[in-house]
Amino acid sequence: MLVTLSSEADPRRVQGELAALGLWSETVRGSKGAVHLLVPRHSAALDPQRILELPGVVDVAASPSPHPLVDALPRELEVAGRVFGGARPLLIAGPCSVESPDSIDAIAARVATEGASFLRGGAFKPRSSPYAFQGHGAPALRWLADAAAKHGLGVITEALDEGSVAPVAELADIVQVGSRNMQNFGLLRAVGASGRPALLKRGMAATVDEWLLAGEYLLHHGAPAVLFCERGVRGFDERARNLLDLGSVALLATEHGLPVVVDPSHAVGRSDLITPLSLAARAAGAAALMIETHDAPGEALSDGPQALGPSRFSELARAILAQDPEDKSA
Ligand code: PEP
Ligand code: MN
Repeated sequence: MLVTLSSEADPRRVQGELAALGLWSETVRGSKGAVHLLVPRHSAALDPQRILELPGVVDVAASPSPHPLVDALPRELEVAGRVFGGARPLLIAGPCSVESPDSIDAIAARVATEGASFLRGGAFKPRSSPYAFQGHGAPALRWLADAAAKHGLGVITEALDEGSVAPVAELADIVQVGSRNMQNFGLLRAVGASGRPALLKRGMAATVDEWLLAGEYLLHHGAPAVLFCERGVRGFDERARNLLDLGSVALLATEHGLPVVVDPSHAVGRSDLITPLSLAARAAGAAALMIETHDAPGEALSDGPQALGPSRFSELARAILAQDPEDKSA
């Protein structure tokens, strides 16, 4: 049960009154600063009308949903002046890892010209092998943020562990939680507490409900917004690497009314299949696409085979943003 309070109400006093009625509750901050009290289902065996009569209570939603804060997310989310879920799709683009100040600057210039809204790039990389390139760490965050600012782009980058949340949140507009970390609850708490919007990659073996609950963790711990990002789940056939689950994208977009991000790069793992998958993602209702691109994919320090080179990226951007060819600033 979600109890919404008026802006003048003292949450502690209302909590005390609920406790007197035998109900345990927790304070949660909703989107747009509203204060709610969450009464867990096992504690909610009381007529909602009794609660509605308490001073300071303006609404009681007796929702059977286990993720009321996700349910309350708006269809459109504005971050860094860009709207996810509006009429125009957004492009998030950049390399797998931030490799040097010059290379990230050149990529930022190029993707900005092609109409991208956000620059992505990892400073702290989750790699399957401990011998693979792990990212340049904190200095790369600065290179990324400088390049984005210079070319008018927002910043998305990953916090790999609780220790990297503070430096990432300081410079990023959106903090990415990687697929391998979707159920790292300590990290979800820390990212939520950073107060930054989060981009939550779907775990590669996570159900949609587990994914939504991970989003609920972020919101419950203070994230002002969560963007759910589908990046492929483990299928039975590895020919096309992961299975890009566009059914779940359509489900989140239609049934849950969420602006969904799709990352075809990590799904299919090869550059020649990124454009068809991106178009399919849009058709399934994706609000934004996250695409890995590199100026010289053959020399990339990570994920080169899936990175789009300049001409392929340009073709993709045109195909995706074609609905509004005159305005690439969205
Ligand atoms: C990434 O986006 O850089 C990444 C590592 O993705 P994922 O967590 O989906 O594998
Ligand atoms: Mn990558």
